[in-house]
Amino acid sequence: MLEIIDLKKIYPTGTKALDGISLSVDQPQVIAIIGPSGAGKSTLIRCINRLVEPSSGQILLNETDIAHLGRRELRKARRRMGMIFQEYNLVDRLTVMENVLSGRLGYVSFWRAYRRSFPKADVAAAFELLERVGLKGYHNTRADALSGGQRQRVGIARALMQAPDLLLVDEPTASLDPKTSRQIMRLLTELVQERGTPALVNIHDVALAQAFSDKIIGLRDGRVVFEGVSDQVTEAVLTDIYGEEDWSTTIRKVDDAENGTGPDSTEQKNNGILRESASG
Ligand code: ADP
Repeated sequence: MLEIIDLKKIYPTGTKALDGISLSVDQPQVIAIIGPSGAGKSTLIRCINRLVEPSSGQILLNETDIAHLGRRELRKARRRMGMIFQEYNLVDRLTVMENVLSGRLGYVSFWRAYRRSFPKADVAAAFELLERVGLKGYHNTRADALSGGQRQRVGIARALMQAPDLLLVDEPTASLDPKTSRQIMRLLTELVQERGTPALVNIHDVALAQAFSDKIIGLRDGRVVFEGVSDQVTEAVLTDIYGEEDWSTTIRKVDDAENGTGPDSTEQKNNGILRESASG
């Protein structure tokens, strides 16, 4: 599905943001990308759809090398990647339905888009998606009348309207409260499975990444320093990714709050880092 080979990005300022990233995604999974601020998470996500131009390397999406496409081909290839943003990127004065349908703009003709006349099948698909993301009945609501969680649901529906081969998700929960964050991550994991579309999710919350991803990639200084499943994210791994810190306390606090397990919990004693199942 996606294979990244030796991807490098050096910004004009001389900052080496990506220093030879290689990774592959061959199943419809949620891949969480974690790492400290400045590790290159955003740059990585944005290089994949060329919002940021890579300096070198290959980005193979179903065998097409995105990194070396001309402008016209790139426009086509971008339709195969759905992007979900931290700040939702909705058009506030448009309705929920119009925002979701804008996910089809790359497909419909200029005049149809200009007149906002979308094919019936697209409108039906949009209604179906709105129901799936929990926004049934909201199609005529203006985007600026929604809560943060609802806005992100629109963002997810819009990305899926493209029927993409890959979802690129940049800090989807950074502007949301903890409960809404979990609901959004849960929805995302379910949709990845239902649609068979893998998602690369840049996320700074380690506990959330552990709870809702199939695989975790740890970045530091533009390099992959960890690749594994949630249970393999040990304190040593976190130290490797983020640097020295008392990770046991930090993680336990999160788990106590989220799972209602106290410090005496047997499960916790046996398993330094708790996680909940993705379906939880
Ligand atoms: P993260 O998402 O992990 O916080 P970023 O990808 O945003 O990391 O940034 C990686 C590095 O690249 C940082 O050192 C950052 O300062 C630098 N950087 C990001 N964007 C730019 C830019 N447009 N110009 C110059 N340097 C940048």
